Amino acid sequence: MQAAIDEAREGMKDNHGGPFGAIIVKDGKVVSRAHNKVLITNDPTAHAEVLAIRQASEVLENFDLSDCEIYTSSQPCPMCLAAIYWARIKKVYFGTNKEDVAAIGFDDSLFYKFIREEDENALEMLNIDRKECLELLREWDEKSDKKMY
Ligand SMILES: [Zn+2]
Repeated sequence: MQAAIDEAREGMKDNHGGPFGAIIVKDGKVVSRAHNKVLITNDPTAHAEVLAIRQASEVLENFDLSDCEIYTSSQPCPMCLAAIYWARIKKVYFGTNKEDVAAIGFDDSLFYKFIREEDENALEMLNIDRKECLELLREWDEKSDKKMY
């Protein structure tokens, strides 16, 4: 999780996007790392989890990441959750939850209304290191040159 936090912090400092980072691990080894790039790419889908999945698939030359796990500094949004399902990743470690990110202006609760809540049996979701990941959100909230999207 620390690597995901470091990614998030790096991207936030360089104004690449929001305070979000993700790491994909296979057999205990990091295969990809990414941070949110919505602002620098003007791509609303450039979330950390999606970018990490794309990179891992490229590195492993496989679209099936069922033997991988993802660590993400925040609970995946509905889009990222769908990408995780498509990648067949079975285990998600996340730091802050959707209420935490909504509190600093990243509210995806509207999107959840349009789709069903996640099937908790289909994916193992483990909340870890929330306190450390909350620190990222606090830094973002206090960032004077942030651009909201
Ligand atoms: Zn997302």
